[in-house]
Amino acid sequence: MKVPLLDLTEQNSALRPEIESALGRVLDTNAFILGGEVKALEDELAEYCRTKYAIGCASGSDALLLALMAVGVKAGDEVITTPYSFFATVSAITRLGATPVFVDIDPKTFNLDVSQIEGAITERTKAIQPVHLYGQCADMEALNDVVGRHGIPVVEDAAQAIGAEENGRRAGAMSEVGCFSFYPSKNLGGMGDGGFMTTDDEQIARELVALRNHGSEERYYHKWVGVNSRLDGFQGAVLRVKLPHLDEWTDRRNQNADRYRDLFTNAGLTEQIELPFERENCRHIYNQFVIRVSGRRDELRKHLAAADVGTDIYYPVPLHLQECFEYLGYREGEFPESEKAAKETLALPIYPELRSEQQEYVVEKVRESFEEK
Ligand SMILES: *Cc1c(COP(=O)(O)O)cnc(C)c1O
Repeated sequence: MKVPLLDLTEQNSALRPEIESALGRVLDTNAFILGGEVKALEDELAEYCRTKYAIGCASGSDALLLALMAVGVKAGDEVITTPYSFFATVSAITRLGATPVFVDIDPKTFNLDVSQIEGAITERTKAIQPVHLYGQCADMEALNDVVGRHGIPVVEDAAQAIGAEENGRRAGAMSEVGCFSFYPSKNLGGMGDGGFMTTDDEQIARELVALRNHGSEERYYHKWVGVNSRLDGFQGAVLRVKLPHLDEWTDRRNQNADRYRDLFTNAGLTEQIELPFERENCRHIYNQFVIRVSGRRDELRKHLAAADVGTDIYYPVPLHLQECFEYLGYREGEFPESEKAAKETLALPIYPELRSEQQEYVVEKVRESFEEK
């Protein structure tokens, strides 16, 4: 048996006729950049995320950059964020000449430890950027409580969390700007790069629309220095075919997560591996199903690879220890929970079309690996 970490074949072949006719509509109208399909998608995404506005752009990385620009982050400012995330979370900050100020993670959720935020706020703090890692919201209620006392804007990195909820509020709707990605491995993946931003603030929405298009509201007149970061018509058309299926796919990811829990528990493996923690009153969308293995993660990963089970590590190097951020002056040992997570996390296949026999096989191979020891 082969169990890839992610296999999009089934999803795409089921939708192929619809996707082809959607692409045909774009070809017929020549609306290759932004255009009607993108506009319609933006309306549908705003409704899905329960925000007033959704604005397409060229990638999740750009969504973060544009969002930070729109809330006014400039050179010399500080942005508080997590060192345990994808690289773009932090490069968006440094590309603006601002300084990332890290706060360690909560070891249970892998998200920002909100209790440490207040101590990191200075007069230069211009924004706080939590990440909803693996598809589960950071503790936004507590975070907004802290932030409310200081009046600092929040930008959510919700790239892995479309449709995730905390107390009935959706990811991207709990801050000034929410940032999302259509990278093919996300729950709503395009057929190329793409992303979008959500907001309830009319002025921010207006700036984001301009900033993604060279800061221009009227052609050849530039109010701001923006960037070229527009969503393609083809991506818009494909994503409109996929969006109506998103909740069904996310439900299946949740069913797969439940099945792993049962299988690992029945196999008596809950001492050797730690299963993902689910926060109360939250909807986890399981973009990734990440277990913790203390001590022999890399051996387990090798054993699984030899058995044709795909896995990955999100992420093996915490951002404060990346070579390009050496100038920030952080040292090993400063964020112990992030550093520990980098040595212990392992993502297992969780995609919606995964079959139960494949999950049984994965758990059997994990059991075998521990038996060998
Ligand atoms: C995927 C991802 C991004 C970047 O999205 P791209 O569309 O690949 O640029 C940013 N942050 C996180 C947490 C992500 O998972």
